[in-house]
Amino acid sequence: MLLSVENLEVKYGNIQALHGITFHVKEGEIVTLIGANGAGKTTTLYSIARLPPPEAPRVVGGEIRLRGDSILKTAPHVIVDQLKLALVPEGRRIFGNLTVLENLELATYARKDAEGIKLDYQKVFDLFPRLAERKKQRSESLSGGEQQMLAVGRAIMTGCNFLLLDEPSMGLAPLLKYEMFRTLKKLNQEGLTLLLVEQNANLALHLAHRGYVLDTGTIVAEGTGEQLLGNPEVKKAYLGG
Ligand code: ATP
Repeated sequence: MLLSVENLEVKYGNIQALHGITFHVKEGEIVTLIGANGAGKTTTLYSIARLPPPEAPRVVGGEIRLRGDSILKTAPHVIVDQLKLALVPEGRRIFGNLTVLENLELATYARKDAEGIKLDYQKVFDLFPRLAERKKQRSESLSGGEQQMLAVGRAIMTGCNFLLLDEPSMGLAPLLKYEMFRTLKKLNQEGLTLLLVEQNANLALHLAHRGYVLDTGTIVAEGTGEQLLGNPEVKKAYLGG
């Protein structure tokens, strides 16, 4: 098992955001977490990536294991550099005053495999030709969609093989949304495992092998993408009837 989350309970201050959720991700899968605003999707990803305060939610119960070992006491940089798990946060948190190339370069700081880095640049520019055309451009002047691409590109440049993606299609025009999902599929086919948080349940369930439905901090349904797409309650609540 690549990731297993067991009875995870998480709080912000006194407010409980996750009420004992259990799910897993196997090597090579695309797994999606869907749910309404405030369901706890971002909180779940932040808990796994072990983000430092002030954003970090506080784990008050349960366990998170990566390849069998608990990561509850593991530092975030160790998770990225050694355990090869990277978070692609929502809202394109890229460094706006740096160029596209500088943003990508920064993600390689802990890597020593020059050849691998070279191949990964190639991969990013093949996947996102728009970024290749804009290497020297300051990132804050990129369009929303291009910034989203850069956020994914940056995660690829870390050399990680397990990506947690927080709404990668957020704010993208429909055509770019499809393009982003096609890119995610390609990344998966090239061997990356993806845990994808999405508001666009329809697209996410079509892409993912399996999915979980979160509702106010509790998992209320799970199954293959196909099963969830056909589940009448999921249809009614998340797929527009
Ligand atoms: P969205 O799709 O709107 O991003 P989400 O499913 O990702 O929603 P979370 O952002 O994980 O939901 O939020 C889960 C709950 O935790 C919400 O009730 C939210 O208000 C609360 N919460 C999130 N971040 C914090 C914080 N820093 N401090 C206090 N409460 C928070």
